[in-house]
Amino acid sequence: MPIWVRRTLISIGVLAVVGGAAYYWLVVESRMPSDAEFAFDINQVRRAIAAVPGDKPATVEVEHVGSFQFPATAIVAGDGWALRDMPVYSFRLAYPDRSIIVDTALNEELGGGNLVTFDAEAYTRMMSAMTSASLILITHEHMDHIGGLTVHPDLVALLPSTALTREQVEHPERSLPARFPEGALDDYQPLEYEQFKVVAPGVALIKAPGHTPGSQMVYVQKANGQELLLIGDVAWHYRNIEVLRERARLVTRFFLNEDRTAVFGQLAALHELHLAEPDIAIVPGHDGGIVDGLLEAGILARGFSVE
Ligand SMILES: [Zn+2]
Repeated sequence: MPIWVRRTLISIGVLAVVGGAAYYWLVVESRMPSDAEFAFDINQVRRAIAAVPGDKPATVEVEHVGSFQFPATAIVAGDGWALRDMPVYSFRLAYPDRSIIVDTALNEELGGGNLVTFDAEAYTRMMSAMTSASLILITHEHMDHIGGLTVHPDLVALLPSTALTREQVEHPERSLPARFPEGALDDYQPLEYEQFKVVAPGVALIKAPGHTPGSQMVYVQKANGQELLLIGDVAWHYRNIEVLRERARLVTRFFLNEDRTAVFGQLAALHELHLAEPDIAIVPGHDGGIVDGLLEAGILARGFSVE
C-alpha cells in the first residue's frame, strides 16, 4: 500500500473516531452526574401551605397557546431525530374570588418560524385573564413563558400583581427575543425568597435554578386536596423524569447555557417524589400527553373561563 493511501486511511479513521465521540457527547450522552442533588421536602411545603388559611383554587385551567416541534434527542438525549411536539401552555388557578396566572406563553411574533401552531383565540383569552388576575407567576424567564407578559399592552398596570423573582429580573438576556420595554422594571421590587414560599392559599413557589437562573416550580393544592407541581422546564417532557435523562448536551450547553448538574438533581428528586407520592400531578413545561391525561382525569380544565 502506498504511504499516502495509508496516511489518508489513518486520517479518515481518526476523524471518524473523533467525530463519533463528539456526536456521542453532544447528542446522546446523558448519565446522571454523581454530584447531582436537589434538596426538596414535599412535607415542608405542605406544612407551610396548611399554615395559610383561605379558599384554595377550585380549578386549574390550561390554555394551549401554540406549539413548537423539536427533535426527540433535543428533549431526551439519545431519543433520535424524529420530531416531537412541544406545546406551549399558560395556567390559570381559579379561586371563588380571584385568579392566579402561571406562565404567559408568547405571541406569534416572538415564536416566529419556531411555532408550528398558534391559537390566536387562546392567546386572547390568556391576555384578558392576565388583566383580571390577582397574581401573575412565571416559572422561568424564557420567552415562551414570560413573552405574553413582556408584550402585554397593560404591562404597567399588571406589574404590581406580577411576582417576578430577583433571579428572573436579573437575567434579561435569558428572555431574548422577549424583552420588557425600556425602563419598565426600573422601580420594580422583585420577589426574594429562600428555597420555597407560599404566595397564596394553596400555592407555593419552589426555587429550582438550573434550566435558567430564575427557574422555579409552582406547587398547587386544589380545594379538593388534589396536588399539582407545575415544574416549568426543569423537564420539557415527563420522559426526562421517568428515564432520568436530560436534554442533549448540544442543547443544554450551546443553546440554553444550563446548569446541567442542577437539572439532573431536580430530575432525580422528581423521580423519587413520583415513586413516593404518585398522586401528585407533575406537569412538565411542554408535555401534551401529560396535560391531555390530566384534562381527561379532571385534574386540569381546558381553556380559561374568562369573558
Ligand atoms: Zn419552555
